[in-house]
Amino acid sequence: MYTITLIPGDGIGPEISEAMKKVVEATGIKIQWEIQNAGEEVYLKEGNPLPERVIESIKKNKIAIKGPITTPVGTGFRSVNVSLRQALDLYACVRPCKSFKGAKTKYENIDLVIVRENTEDLYAGIEFKKGETETIDLIKFIEEKTGKKIRQDSGISIKPISVFGTERIVRFAFEYARKNGRKKVTAVHKANIMKHSDGLFLEVAREVATNYPDVEFEDKIVDNMCMQLVQKPELYDVLVLPNLYGDIISDLAAGLIGGLGLAPGANIGDEYAVFEPTHGSAPKYKGLNKVNPFAIILSAVMMLRYLGETQSADKIENAVAEIIKEGRFVTYDMKSPDDPNPPVGTLEVAEALVEKIKSY
Ligand code: NAD
Repeated sequence: MYTITLIPGDGIGPEISEAMKKVVEATGIKIQWEIQNAGEEVYLKEGNPLPERVIESIKKNKIAIKGPITTPVGTGFRSVNVSLRQALDLYACVRPCKSFKGAKTKYENIDLVIVRENTEDLYAGIEFKKGETETIDLIKFIEEKTGKKIRQDSGISIKPISVFGTERIVRFAFEYARKNGRKKVTAVHKANIMKHSDGLFLEVAREVATNYPDVEFEDKIVDNMCMQLVQKPELYDVLVLPNLYGDIISDLAAGLIGGLGLAPGANIGDEYAVFEPTHGSAPKYKGLNKVNPFAIILSAVMMLRYLGETQSADKIENAVAEIIKEGRFVTYDMKSPDDPNPPVGTLEVAEALVEKIKSY
């Protein structure tokens, strides 16, 4: 029996979490779910969108799975998702993007793994609001030290990238490549422009790569990487990126395999792991039993593999592949306009998966 923290999240989070639970339990694995709510409603009730009890639960159980959580844009509390990754030092975000036969997409045979650094870069949360005393002081300090002028009406976000943070994420990417029989790691950066942050990332990545002569290494500038992925994704294998580029390229890669509804993810540190889909809380679909639960279900597959529960993981993955191939019990995002059968809802996808799993 495992005890696993489950954070249902908000928006579409609770309904896809429910679907995931049903499907995981159908494999026969015994899990006690420790439900922990976080996000805006919790903020209104408890004054903190990520109360200590959530962190404590994950620290105790070592493992969690979560639905997406809405982040207010521009103002309001900081992203619960980012805070959680930082609080538990979940430094590696792993997002595999693999084609499923029958999924609606222009591309075939995509097989990419995005390894995104999760704790540094512009997501470190070190920000200075326009007009505040600290911001004016910082602008003055920068001018004194560098001679460079920053407009007084600027807001500033700091982009720290360290040797420590880069070394461990690049090592993680190479270890992942080795363990999973992957051939190549591509480091993605903008070192031509940001010499002391992305430049450091590239320099350290090159150094770490020398310890892995059995895995090919190359680097690409992020803008070129975007074009390359759209034009010839088959040339790429494992990509390792600083936080912001990793976030953006994850969605691009999800687009290649048929959309966010199919893209799972894991946030992994040395002690804890939190599994979650790449997509957000899609608030406009909240409570409509409409969205695709595959991304969180495939995140659960990653979780089961992490736990060594290969059989249960295989069963779910096979069921997902079959359901997608059959094309009948899938949600709106996976249907072509000329499909004679209407899409089904979130719950119906889960029920179809449960039936398949029980038949194995
Ligand atoms: P989103 O991923 O929620 O939605 C983008 C679009 O993708 C949606 O309009 C929908 O068409 C589609 N989509 C997403 N998930 C889907 C699914 N399961 N099935 C079918 N279609 C799906 O991105 P957004 O609109 O930019 O963000 C909404 C909120 O989610 C924001 O508050 C954002 O901060 C938050 N967010 C949270 C996480 C997280 O919890 N880790 C990640 C990304 C965004």
